Amino acid sequence: MSLSKLEYIWLDGYKPTQSLRSKTKIVKDFSGKLEDLEQWSFDGSSTEQAPGGSSDCLLKPVYVVKDPQRKNGYLVMCEVLSADGSAHESNGRATIEDDDNDFWFGFEQEYFLWNPETNKPLGFPAGGYPGPQGPYYCSVGASNAYGREIVEEHLDACLEAGINVEGINAEVATGQWEFQIFSKGAKQAGDQIWVARYLLERIGEKYGVAINWHCKPLGALDWNGSGMHANFSNGLLRTAGSKATFDAVCEAFRPVVKEHIAVYGADNELRLTGKHETASIHDFSYGVSDRGASIRIPVLVPAKGWSGYLEDRRPNSAADPYKVAARIIKTVKSAKV
Ligand code: ADP
Ligand code: MN
Ligand code: MN
Ligand code: MN
Repeated sequence: MSLSKLEYIWLDGYKPTQSLRSKTKIVKDFSGKLEDLEQWSFDGSSTEQAPGGSSDCLLKPVYVVKDPQRKNGYLVMCEVLSADGSAHESNGRATIEDDDNDFWFGFEQEYFLWNPETNKPLGFPAGGYPGPQGPYYCSVGASNAYGREIVEEHLDACLEAGINVEGINAEVATGQWEFQIFSKGAKQAGDQIWVARYLLERIGEKYGVAINWHCKPLGALDWNGSGMHANFSNGLLRTAGSKATFDAVCEAFRPVVKEHIAVYGADNELRLTGKHETASIHDFSYGVSDRGASIRIPVLVPAKGWSGYLEDRRPNSAADPYKVAARIIKTVKSAKV
């Protein structure tokens, strides 16, 4: 007999930004397979997901990987259901309409490594400011790159768990980094982002470093904010072979700016200013290779005869990838092609 430690992970009901929660279940002789996992319950009154009088919510396992950091451990991403078994209103994953995995998503998750004592990013000297941004992006060396130990440990943990990380890089501000995760299937892309976020939070604990997911943690100062660019495609875009198809899909986004911004992360007006490689939150634009546009058409798309993917640059670092994907899919499906 062997005993496994199953970490059931879910998203709480806090608004406007949901946080990760988790608890451990000890299970005998677990096969490692999703279909052998049982539902579990938790106290929804402690997570803003249920009233105290009828507090039980259900955890439905949807994605499981080996826990790279715990002996006999597994990480179990879950959807939250109400006690009657229906999807809870906080459950963005259940709103994704992509059952045939036609949609592929690549998210570029940016974040800050944060010193909880000074309440500043790693690399900020106590009581002052580092030199202006410029040398930090993709940097090497102790005067420009901060927290690499954590970033490397996180990359190894993700790869060991089987998460499809495609790359990492140091970002424009000090202590700011990015990882990219790609998956064929919108739900799976969201699952992997959330488990990768979970691993980063937990590794940070060990170093006494917090992860700051806010999209503009340095406020109005002249420092970049954090995004979570959503790169997406479906069969239509991957095989389009015509500029008209790309134009039609991009135009479908124009009348629904508000609906998209509503799920692209809290406080995004602080980040989408038209500066720092962003478009204004009030505008909609798209263009080939344009990093000041709402949606960028990668330069490879026309180069490959107008087939490939699009990058929505507006989602921010704290957005829920499930809700972002659900909204993008809805809009792409509405395109008049
Ligand atoms: P940049 O920083 O130049 O915007 P990155 O290399 O950081 O670009 O990220 C590009 C993302 O696009 C990656 O996550 C990659 O997986 C994703 N991607 C590439 N091809 C596709 C595709 N066909 N459909 C969806 N996403 C894609
Ligand atoms: Mn990138
Ligand atoms: Mn980036
Ligand atoms: Mn990008």
